[in-house]
Amino acid sequence: MGRDVLHWLLRWQLPVKVPLLDLQKQNAELEPRLTEAFGRVLKSGRFIGGPEVESFEQAVALLLGVSHAIGVSSGTDAILLALMALDIGPGDEVICPSFTFFATGGCVARVGATPVFADSCPVCFNIDVADARRRVTDRTKAIIPVHLFGQCADMDAVMSLASDHKLAVIEDAAQALGACYKGRAAGSIGVCGTFSFYPSKNLGAFGDAGMLVTNDAEFASKARLLRNHGAEERYFHKKVGGNFRLDPIQAALLSVKLEHLESYSRRRESNARYYTSQLTGIEGLRLPEAHPYNRHIWNQYTLRVPTRREGFREFLGSRDIGSEIYYPLPLHAQECFFPLGSIRLPLAERLAAECVSIPIYPELTQDQLNAVVEATREFSLS
Ligand SMILES: *Cc1c(COP(=O)(O)O)cnc(C)c1O
Repeated sequence: MGRDVLHWLLRWQLPVKVPLLDLQKQNAELEPRLTEAFGRVLKSGRFIGGPEVESFEQAVALLLGVSHAIGVSSGTDAILLALMALDIGPGDEVICPSFTFFATGGCVARVGATPVFADSCPVCFNIDVADARRRVTDRTKAIIPVHLFGQCADMDAVMSLASDHKLAVIEDAAQALGACYKGRAAGSIGVCGTFSFYPSKNLGAFGDAGMLVTNDAEFASKARLLRNHGAEERYFHKKVGGNFRLDPIQAALLSVKLEHLESYSRRRESNARYYTSQLTGIEGLRLPEAHPYNRHIWNQYTLRVPTRREGFREFLGSRDIGSEIYYPLPLHAQECFFPLGSIRLPLAERLAAECVSIPIYPELTQDQLNAVVEATREFSLS
């Protein structure tokens, strides 16, 4: 047998690996510019605040069409800072979805307020605003819609609930940088929007980083003050804040990636379209849907597998295909919130039991996409 034939056979036999996320590919393509940005910060000697942070803030503000963007240490700290800037604290209630990442509800508890969990829509995975409305009391001060997996919550309904009861709206847009609701950028609709640059988000930093955005000048200056221990002038503290600053090194590296965000989003959209076209009609599988008025930027492509979810994940694993459950336990059922009393949120519970996210990152090759499609089809026939 000739070498070429052997080589060909080996390639044929080798399964295509599809990790849930592969950051190396994206970073390798940008390596010269990332190295240049790192060198610039290194030589500047400025490691807190300054022009790198300011220019990244301006670029994000421009992208989203907001007047203020405030770089912060993480997506979690963006939510915490937003609540602090709104003076939300003990005795206040804040409504948020139960089916979300922990930080959304965790930050409410950290400022001493009470998180009030609402159910979710089984189609778009976002907060069920009719259910949220039933949970409003005299103490409700704010609502935190989460734009889960990269698709905006029903913001018209959220804003009308908020105006009926004078609630502040904090958009948790950690997973939705570049997403739009009826032509408006996620994060630009409520009093403020919070973003995360955690490495697995659509714009991923090299560590932790986040952003708080707003069109409200007063809110922005308060948030800027609280970001830096409540001090305008060093060692003179007007308010009790914290250290919620974004590092210049992260800002410089993120600025390089930000220029590519639109092309990353387009590739995620095209991967999602491909999955949807290939997986439609498979029994035992519900595909994610984007509302026509939304621009979904697909931080996750999340299937619902009502029966045999574990079997499906194991089957994918046996084919070297990554998957993850976002999120296996809704917030209202988390041990740390037991003291709030026990409630049932049937749809959030169902989503937690049925959801599984498959690889959707921009650098997936056609071979990798096909491997996921084929494994999924094969599993459905087994
Ligand atoms: C990632 C995420 C956060 C927290 O962001 P970090 O940067 O990890 O602190 C908050 N909310 C949601 C919905 C997220 O996905």
